[in-house]
Amino acid sequence: MFLSYSRSLWRGLTDVFDIYLKILRRVQQMADMELGRLSDNYRMLHSCPPCQYKLEDEPLLEIEMIGSIDGNQSLRRADLRAGAHEDPRQFRSSYLLSEDAVNVFQHDIKPRCKKSKVSAPLPPVSEEPEEAGAADGDTEHTTCADRWQAAAADVVKRMWKIYRESGIFLAACRHGFVWIFCDMIKSGELAKYGLAILNELLQLFGKNLGIGYDIACAFMATVRKSSLAAAAAELRLRLCVPAFHGFAHNRPCQLSNHPLYITGFGIEDLETCEKVFAPSNGCAKLSRHATRFHRHQSLDMHFTQWDEDKYAELATFLFNNYQQAQGLLNDMPTAIAALQSGKALEDTVYHEHLDAERLYLASRKKEPESDVIACEYVALLIKYEAAGKLYHTAMAQTVPCKSDDLQLRLHKVKLDAFEQLEQLCTLVVALEKLHDFQERWTPSDKWKAAVAYMEVREYQKALDKLEGLVVQRLFELTKMGLAGTGYKMRVHINKALKTRCKAIQTALKKFNTAACILNRPPLEWKNISTYGSLAEFSLLRECREDIRSLPWAEATNRQAAIYHLKYERALEERERLNLEVRRLATWVRDEEHDFTCNITRVGLLRPHLAAEMGEIRDRRVHINNEHRKCIARIQALPSFSGISSLGTRIGRTNTDMDIDSLNDEAADGTGGGDEELDDDGLDEDDRVADELVNITYFVENLAIDLH
Ligand SMILES: [Zn+2]
Ligand SMILES: [Zn+2]
Repeated sequence: MFLSYSRSLWRGLTDVFDIYLKILRRVQQMADMELGRLSDNYRMLHSCPPCQYKLEDEPLLEIEMIGSIDGNQSLRRADLRAGAHEDPRQFRSSYLLSEDAVNVFQHDIKPRCKKSKVSAPLPPVSEEPEEAGAADGDTEHTTCADRWQAAAADVVKRMWKIYRESGIFLAACRHGFVWIFCDMIKSGELAKYGLAILNELLQLFGKNLGIGYDIACAFMATVRKSSLAAAAAELRLRLCVPAFHGFAHNRPCQLSNHPLYITGFGIEDLETCEKVFAPSNGCAKLSRHATRFHRHQSLDMHFTQWDEDKYAELATFLFNNYQQAQGLLNDMPTAIAALQSGKALEDTVYHEHLDAERLYLASRKKEPESDVIACEYVALLIKYEAAGKLYHTAMAQTVPCKSDDLQLRLHKVKLDAFEQLEQLCTLVVALEKLHDFQERWTPSDKWKAAVAYMEVREYQKALDKLEGLVVQRLFELTKMGLAGTGYKMRVHINKALKTRCKAIQTALKKFNTAACILNRPPLEWKNISTYGSLAEFSLLRECREDIRSLPWAEATNRQAAIYHLKYERALEERERLNLEVRRLATWVRDEEHDFTCNITRVGLLRPHLAAEMGEIRDRRVHINNEHRKCIARIQALPSFSGISSLGTRIGRTNTDMDIDSLNDEAADGTGGGDEELDDDGLDEDDRVADELVNITYFVENLAIDLH
């Protein structure tokens, strides 16, 4: 049957669907209440057994829980047109952090002063005072966030104006479970979003949290200047950049903030948020023009399903990581021995090498200002000299014939040359006055030194350009491999890569020309197309002293140091996995035990609810059985070094909930409830009629304000 669109049909269908979802939620709520899962923050504190189901007598890990935070702008929602009314309903979701809770941190950080532009082509975006960005706490610009996360351009800010919610800011654990998210309102990633989310995590999870964030280096400075500073220090919060994004940060930042260089992160890449966002983009179509209520409802449904999927994949996650860690533990010592002509792992001093590199990078001063001024001055003098020559040549020109047209053109050329010379002369004099140069420089030693320094700067500029292009290329390559990247996007990236490769080739040529002038070794295409080469860019930049002969700067030592760190991280990963596997195994047993006890108890009074709970349990048992098989596979691995027996959850007292006594109670009929109705001799029809009355009553009491 074909129905044409009518607003009343649309309205009816939407309302019915809302009611249907509300019934599902209410039933789930009732089951949760009986299972003791309705307390505040229950979901956040219990969703991930490997992270949170801590057992008695476990060794303490340096970083107890690992997660990631990040913002994403695809889940936007258009602002209402002026005069339109917002849906008054508020959807309550355990995933959602309210705008009020976020705004508590609104004034924690002062927005960083943006450089004023001389000519602004567009009027200012808004009269409202700007709020601080996530990296604005780093007022000394000590970190590298600016390098790749440019401040949002006015055009982007204009885009934010169209939307009320411009995206979400989210936190998730390393296994992919979503902890919490908040809406970003008419803005990009402001400091308050990250701070509000971190505040929740610190309050709920306590000490030794390890959190990954793209701009962790700058955000750490923001945290230190915020009202969270004391709590973050006391609870030993550790922020670091995700493994892949880390390659876009500079070398000193990597040495302090990349998970490979930090004790305790194992082989975790901290890119979880990217993985959560990829499929959540599917909700974008629904949320773009939805009401606030419906947007939150669809996000809540999406993340609930996402978490269920992650639960089903848990044991496989642990199995894969176990194998990956074991692979590293097997391979790395051999790889190091091959690089270091047979040296064993213990005979090496890579941590000393890394310390030496840190020390060197910290001691390296910024470009001295006097050099910069000398460069500017000499460049200007060279231009001035060239303009002088041009002027003299122009003045010497004469026109043999008396053509008015030619005379006029020559006059114009002379005038232009004179004006240019005069302009440059004014600039030279102004610069000399400003920096108090007593005499004009001639091509002497000082001049030569400045020219040599200019060549170095050219070289470094060419290197910066090349590095930037390689970083972009690597980002695009990974995106191509990401699940959830659509076909069109892949085609687009492919095209971009082709042009980028040409751009890289051109940049490489320029770099090699600059390197040739300085007598430095040229770079080859094959050497710059790998990840590892990025760390080497900072070494190439060094021109002032020859550090390439120091032990920490030698290529084989550097590679061996990376292998060594990977080995250490793999050891940590295995230690963590041993705990996580046992936690999951214990959780599976306890959860099923609790289900059985509670269902037996509820069955005495409310058999229908018990039946619903039974279905929830059956779904879980089905998944848990898969977990059991997978855990058995992990424990059967020859390299397995954990404890195979189950443990006891810290603080768990109801393990002995007595199923037998509950069963006895049911058999005695002392439980009361529906059984008595049978005794009263109600027949089947009466019971159905009663059920209908109950359902009608239930639906009427849903109290949905539909209009
Ligand atoms: Zn987890
Ligand atoms: Zn950084």
